[in-house]
Amino acid sequence: MSTSNRSRLGKRATGFDAIIGQQRQIRMLAAALQKKEVPHAMLFTGEAGIGKKTTAIHFAMACNCGHPMPMAGGFVFSGSVNPCGECRPCRKIASGNHPDVYHIQPPGATIKIEQIRTLCSALSLRPHEALLRIVLLSDAHLMNAEAGNALLKVLEEPPEKTVFILTAPEAADILPTIVSRCRHLRFNPIPEDQLEAYLVEKRGMPPENAMIIASMANGSIGRALSICDDDWILLHRRRVIEQMEIIFRKPAGRDLHFAEMLAQDRKKLRFSLEIMKSWLRDLAVSRYFPEKVCNRDIRSRLAALSRTVDMDGLIEKTDAVWQAERAITANANARLAIEAMMMRLSE
Ligand SMILES: [Zn+2]
Repeated sequence: MSTSNRSRLGKRATGFDAIIGQQRQIRMLAAALQKKEVPHAMLFTGEAGIGKKTTAIHFAMACNCGHPMPMAGGFVFSGSVNPCGECRPCRKIASGNHPDVYHIQPPGATIKIEQIRTLCSALSLRPHEALLRIVLLSDAHLMNAEAGNALLKVLEEPPEKTVFILTAPEAADILPTIVSRCRHLRFNPIPEDQLEAYLVEKRGMPPENAMIIASMANGSIGRALSICDDDWILLHRRRVIEQMEIIFRKPAGRDLHFAEMLAQDRKKLRFSLEIMKSWLRDLAVSRYFPEKVCNRDIRSRLAALSRTVDMDGLIEKTDAVWQAERAITANANARLAIEAMMMRLSE
């Protein structure tokens, strides 16, 4: 290892070390690389925004890196399989300009057979410069049947020095014949404390905002970042929580425009319902398990209110929010669903 590599390693997390919350998966990938037993096809499953694509790109870098480094913290083996992120192949892969790293994704609602055919003709030639050619197929569950069958043919007779990485929410969403040819790696939602630390340390977010956003992101870094981009969400969260507190203290005192404001925008409504569910849940656990509260910035307000709340009523109100969410997911009229929910919340 060169001196510059050593100092880089000391300075900041690079390569696999920069990926948060997926240590088990990375350990498996690094071990496969170290033993030179990389499966020719892998399926990464898990929710959107938890690092499947980022891990696939770092793996492509690791397979082709000119100056791989040892793994840092927590990894027991000492093989140099961690991509440096700075050599020519690493930079080309990171910027999406490597001729032997293919990224197939749905241009619209589906991945089409033409995309797979074009890929196959490219794969029939030798790699340009890669040690291992990588095909990243994002949202593989969106392949139509023809595309899926065409892909299956390639997987049955895989081209040399080529690794396929498919991503999807669930293995059940993909043709079983394709799944059976892949090594399956399930990705976990990122633990809240790791997400929070990431937002503070890597994104420079004030700790109080990071705590709130991490609690709302359901373990998805993509979701956390989309919330961060929008100051609206923090202001909105404050307003929703204040309204909920009023409804619980004095139902008649609620803002009559609140339901209208909630129903205005479907995307924002989804967040509003998440805020309510998380607040109601916290209210329920606050009395007996205060350490389990997610909305930690308002812990004392929750504790005070929880002492006055009747548990049966709380269950009924929580059900009202879940029912509104189900109705809206099923494309019901949002305004009506919200009004029905507000009636039950104010009872
Ligand atoms: Zn490199």
